[in-house]
Order: sequence, then C-alpha cells, then structure tokens
Amino acid sequence: MATTKYEFETEAQKLLRLMINSLYSTREVFLRELISNASDAIDKLRFESLSKPSLLGDDGEFAISIEFDDKLNVLTITDNGIGMSREELIENLGTIAKSGTESFFDQLSSDEQSNANLIGQFGVGFYSAFLVADEISVVSRRAGSNDSFKWVSRGESDFSVEEAEGERGTRIQLQLKEDAKEFADAFRLRQIVRQYSDHVAVPVTMRKLNSEDDDWETVNKATAIWTRPRGEIEDDEYREFYKHISHDFEDPLLWSHNRVEGRLEYISLIYIPKHAPFDLWQHTEHRGLKLYAQRVFIMDDVDAFLPTYFRWVKGVVDISDFPLNMSRETIQESDEVSSIRNALTRRVIELLQKHADEDSESYYQLWSQFGGLMKASYDWEPTFRDTVPKLFRFSSTHDDSNEQRISLDDYVARMKGDQTEIYYMVGESVATMRNHPLLDVFNQNDLEVLLLDDDYDSYVIMNFTEFEEKQFRDISVNREDLPKLPTIEIVGDETDRLVSRMKHALGESIDDVVISERLTSAPSCLVRGVPWISRGVRAAMGSTQQHLHDVKPVLEVNRNHDLVRYLSELDDDERFENLTNILFEQAQIAYGSLEVDAGEYVRRMNNLLTDLLK
Ligand code: ADP
Ligand code: MG
Repeated sequence: MATTKYEFETEAQKLLRLMINSLYSTREVFLRELISNASDAIDKLRFESLSKPSLLGDDGEFAISIEFDDKLNVLTITDNGIGMSREELIENLGTIAKSGTESFFDQLSSDEQSNANLIGQFGVGFYSAFLVADEISVVSRRAGSNDSFKWVSRGESDFSVEEAEGERGTRIQLQLKEDAKEFADAFRLRQIVRQYSDHVAVPVTMRKLNSEDDDWETVNKATAIWTRPRGEIEDDEYREFYKHISHDFEDPLLWSHNRVEGRLEYISLIYIPKHAPFDLWQHTEHRGLKLYAQRVFIMDDVDAFLPTYFRWVKGVVDISDFPLNMSRETIQESDEVSSIRNALTRRVIELLQKHADEDSESYYQLWSQFGGLMKASYDWEPTFRDTVPKLFRFSSTHDDSNEQRISLDDYVARMKGDQTEIYYMVGESVATMRNHPLLDVFNQNDLEVLLLDDDYDSYVIMNFTEFEEKQFRDISVNREDLPKLPTIEIVGDETDRLVSRMKHALGESIDDVVISERLTSAPSCLVRGVPWISRGVRAAMGSTQQHLHDVKPVLEVNRNHDLVRYLSELDDDERFENLTNILFEQAQIAYGSLEVDAGEYVRRMNNLLTDLLK
C-alpha cells in the first residue's frame, strides 16, 4: 500500500511551534479538544443519518471511547461519528482553515504569541494533541464509504497518509511523550473528562476500574447541558461548554440560559466572549449560534438568530418543533426564527446593559473590542431603537481619557436645567478636538459635548434622530440658538466694514464671515451650514451625498480678540489680507482639517515674522 508524504502548510507549522510554548502549562486540554471534535463528528452524522439512515449501518449507538496502555504509553480516543475521507484528512488536519491567520500572526509581539488565549483562537484544537504526543496516528472512515485511511505525523513539518483498516468514524492514537505518561492513567483521565467534558452530550466511555472483564462505563454526564435545569449546572460546566462550542480557549464573560415554553418552544444558551476574535471584521466568515432541534445538531454558525451587530455572540438554540430539512436561506425566512431572533436580541441587550450597570470598567473593556463593530453594523431596526443605543459609548468633554466611555444615559443625566439638545462635535481626533475654540463657551457653562472621532460615530449620529426625545446638535454648525457668551458688544458700522473687508480678502474660500458670540480665547474659528461628517464616512457614502460637504465654511471672528481689534484698525490692505488669511488657515487647522495649504500658511507666517524684524 502506498504511503504519501505531505508538508504541513507553513501556517500550521508556525502554529504548532507557538502552541507548544504557550499552552504547555495547561496541556491536559488536548483531551477536551479531541473529545470536542469527536462529539462534533457524531453530531454531524446524527444529522445526516436523519435523511439517510443507511449511513448508520448496524452501529447506531453513538459513543466516544478512551483507552490507554500504560506500558507502551499509548492513549487512544475513538468515535463512531462522521469520519473523514482521504481528502478531508489532508485538508482538515494539514491546514488551518481560517484565512488571514498568518498575517495576523506576523503582527503579534512575541509576548502575544505566547499568550494561550490568542493561540486558542486559531482552531489549534486537533494540534493540541502534540502537546503530549511524539506521534499521532488518525485512522478514519467516512460514513457511507468502505475505505479507511491512516494519517500519521510527528508534528514536525510533514505527515503521511495511507490506506488502512478501520471502522466508521475516527480513531486517534497518541504515542505519549516521555514526560506525559500521566495521561496513561485511569484516574487522571477520568478527572480530566469530568473537568472539561462533562457537558458533552455523547457518552464518553472507559473500561471499568479493577474489572477483569471487558466492562465499560460512561464517565461523563452525557446529557446536553442546555436541557438541564439552570440550578443544577455549575458555572464551570457553563464555561467548558462555551469553550466547546466557540473554539475559544478563554472563559466567557457572561451567559444567559433560558427555556421558553408555549406555542413556540425552545431553549437558548448564549454567551458573551471576553475578547474579540482576530478576524471579527471578516464578513466572509459565517458566525452565529449552533442550531439544534430536539437535541439533534442541525447546523453551525446560523446567523439568523441575532442581528449583525451581535454576530460575535456565541451559543446554542434548541427548537422543539423544527423542520429538519431547512437550508440556511429558508431559516432566514422562517417566522419562528424571526420571533426567536427578537427574543434573543432582547436578551443580549439586557445581559449587556445589566453588566454595564454593574461593572462599567469591565463593560468598557468589552466595548473597546466589539463597540466599533456594533456601531458600524447597527441597523436601526425600530424594535431596538430605544435600547441598543444605550449600549453605545462615546468620548466626551466630561471624560479625560480620550477613550469611548460615556453613555448617552450618562450624558442626559448631566444635562443642565434648560439644555434640550445633545451637543456633539466631529473631528479627526478626540485630543485635538478638546482644544477647539468652539468648546470654550460650552466648557465655561459646564455643558458637555460628545467628541466624535471615529467613522462609526459619525455614521451613528447621522442616523440618530433623537435619544429620549433629545435632538442631536453639531456645535460646529452655525446656528443662532447655540449657547453664547453672556455679554458681547457688537459695534455697528465699524464691524460691517471689518466683515466686508475680510470677505473680500478671503474671496472664494468661504461662504461668509460673521462676528462670533461664543469665542473667548481664539481669534477665529470655522463653522458650517450642515452637520459635519467624518472623511471616512464621506468616502464610504461615495459621490451621492458628496455635495453636502462641498458647502463652504463660515468664518466666525472674535471681535474682542486683540488680533481682530488690530485688524479693524489696520489700513494697510496687503497686511490686512495676509493676516485675515492666517486667521482663516489657523481656524482650518484648529478644526483638524487637512485641506489647509500648509505651504501657503507658512509663507504668510514668515512674511509676518520678517516684518516684525524690520
Ligand atoms: P475545529 O474543531 O476548531 O474545526 P480542530 O483542529 O479541532 O479545529 O479540527 C479540525 C478539523 O478536523 C475539524 O473541523 C473536523 O473537520 C476535523 N476533525 C477533527 N477531529 C475529527 C473527528 N474525530 N472526526 C471527524 N472530523 C474530525
Ligand atoms: Mg476542534
């Protein structure tokens, strides 16, 4: 029989090396991973056999068995699940399925590379067996086929595949490393199974202790965790189940387990992860909940149960009365599914809101990972319009961190007695916005302004009509009714003359010049006739809305500023024009606008400085 050798994909080789270092201290998790794969394989076969019972042959009793030989140091895990064909052995065990893994790796620092939680994301599942084994052989037969194949590797750079003898399903044999003999032990193995795999719905069996005969017993609970009453489930069981379904190596942050009875009966168990996966933004990946019907696994990653902005939530939905022959597309269209979707969305919102209320710092950590995606993909569906925006966080003048920590509820609670609107400003960075002259009057009156620096903020604000009956107001838009300074005297004729000379000096660059009633420290600033939208969003909107932003700015000047006073008395036309342009350009810079002609600005400044030296 011919044996063919294959090289591991480079990504897989790298991953193998990294994993050995980072997971060494918890290497017993290899067993959890192998049992998890075996139970997935059984789930798949159980489902396929519903429409094709012949796949089961005479072996319809599903089990995962563990055997060991403490003399030869061999550990064997066998399942009678779906199995793998020759091609599947090569594809599934020789490559890493997730695209983008390699480029992500290369970005990691060496500290990060040895972080077990990061490594865990890459589906190291099967490879983790190399933590304890010098050599692994996998004999597998795909259900419905008569051919078995054996995959063998020492986990270095290559593996081989050849024909073999075997039953339906997969038999994985580990030649344990010298220092991993502890895993050829009946007590140790039972303890690991109970700790990590109790929740697996398939029986995990081992030979009875001290039994002369070939007697086997089930060593895990072997009932689907979600079907058990909440009160009987330990937190650790919930955590381990999460790792099984999410392929995450880290504990979940929160979960919610519910049984719904009535016309539509289902059980849901949903989890909020602690960290975002590295490929969170990859839209090609299917994401979502695992779908079961009466304990029978139907499909992975069903995204119809939650909206896109919650696509990172993990879990299981088990529907009592669900047609087994639904495709992904028909699931999307089902009324039952959309009513479950609403209920689950509400549940996730409540879970997050409660967490935010109880532990704002931890919620902030979560927000910093998933917030961008939530803002970007929030779809404004009317049902959740009042609740989802409460989960959003923004930067604001009332928080020094330059991070997004302020909720709209916080904002509204701090609104001043006669304040009716939610003030905001859009710019390229929170740090530069803080120094914006337009904020002076708000700071003086202790009025909070949201500082929106990312594209999603801009997008969110554009779609908001109101929050709790409060309108949103861009403070850079020139409007009469924005807060002003208490007293400002504007002198008639002289002012008119100043304004018209400035307009003349600036020509086409501006729409108008107006005397400000709200600047204190700065001589001038720019305002606009329409709310400002970040460049990223403008680019994304393309040309259709572009005209909104070709609108020229209005220059507001501070009549009380020495520079402006000086201007109003200046007769030298050339110097007047120079200074006016400098005021305009400075205002552009303060606005965070990159459209300013820096060369021109520097030339003018230098002319002015040279004049000073004369
Ligand atoms: P993951 O479980 O996250 O997909 P793994 O590294 O654990 O990643 O497994 C890789 C793939 O190998 C699985 O997705 C599955 O297709 C296949 N596989 C592993 N173990 C088995 C098994 N016991 N039976 C059938 N297929 C398996
Ligand atoms: Mg796995």
